[in-house]
Order: sequence, then C-alpha cells, then structure tokens
Amino acid sequence: MRTCKDHDDLGCPMKRINRVDGEGPTPCSIMLIGEAPGKSEDKGGRPFVGKSGSELTHLYLGKCARMDRKNIYITNLVKCRTNDKDRDPSVAEIAVCSNLLRTEINEVKPRYIGAVGRLSTRWFMGEDTKLEKVHGFSYLMLAYRVMPLYHPAYGLHNTAMIRWIMEDWTRFGKMVRGDESVMWKERRN
Ligand code: URA
Repeated sequence: MRTCKDHDDLGCPMKRINRVDGEGPTPCSIMLIGEAPGKSEDKGGRPFVGKSGSELTHLYLGKCARMDRKNIYITNLVKCRTNDKDRDPSVAEIAVCSNLLRTEINEVKPRYIGAVGRLSTRWFMGEDTKLEKVHGFSYLMLAYRVMPLYHPAYGLHNTAMIRWIMEDWTRFGKMVRGDESVMWKERRN
C-alpha cells in the first residue's frame, strides 16, 4: 500500500490510497500529464506502465516524437486509480488532487508540457475545450508551451485513430525541438 500522505490535508474525496507519483528527472524541460493511473499503474506504483504506457513509450514517444522516456517527467492529473472500471476522475477529485500537480510543475519547471487526453487538456484550457479542435497545436501559457495530445488509450480502442495520434506525437517532438511550424496545422475537421 502506498498511502497518500496528503489525503487528509487535501480533503480528498477518493477512497483509493495507492498513490502513483510522477517520475523522471527534476528539473526537466519536458513533462507529460496523463489522466489517472489504471490497474497496472496502481499495482506497479509507476505512471504509464500498462498497455497505454507501452504504446506511449515505444510508439508515440519512441518512434513518433523520437524521445526516450527516461528524459521526460511523466505524471498524472489525479494520482490514484478511480475505481475498478477506471471511470473518469470527477471534477471534485481533479480540483483537489491537481494541487499536487501544481506543486510538481513548480518543482519540475518544464518548458514543454504534453497534456495527454481530454481531461488534462481541459485542466489547462478550460472545461468546455474540445480536444478534437486543439490537439497537436502548441499553446504558450505562463512559462511553458502546452500541446494537447490524443491519449494512447484512444488508439487501443479505435485503431483507425492511430495514424492521427501518431501525427500528434510527431508534432510534440517537433515542438520540443523548437520547430515553429507546429504553431499551426492544416485543419482536417
Ligand atoms: N492512463 C493515464 O492517463 N495515466 C496512466 O498513468 C496510465 C494510463
């Protein structure tokens, strides 16, 4: 059991106490923020180590963005698994737990952030943001650039999406390498 030491102080509404902290170098110029740990992460105590994690590490980061996960700080919006069905974290859970994420961002001091999936994207860009409109664009915010990205899990459930998810992650790699072209892209929808 990895009990969350901040559970009571935060007034956390969750029952789960197997906390999965972020991992990676600190400080680090590149940060990825997923949604919440799933079953494998809950068991292993590390973010993105299940099926989505494998896709992330080898296909999206390795082949598309051409990056080694060892050089990236990887974390989640919510640090505990929500339930056995991996429901989306609630607004209240995100509001409470993202205080930990704020501290993490202050410590890691990233220059580039990948907001992985709809919930992380909304945390940065507002509740009514549509991921299909903003994914793959780089947005300048405070001291960093944020790029909303399709979540690797999306491709596991919908293989027709894989090529678009790959394009997002290719663009993420370009953003980190300073390619200005990712400020803009052709709209396909
Ligand atoms: N999905 C996420 O968003 N985060 C993880 O750590 C694993 C799967």
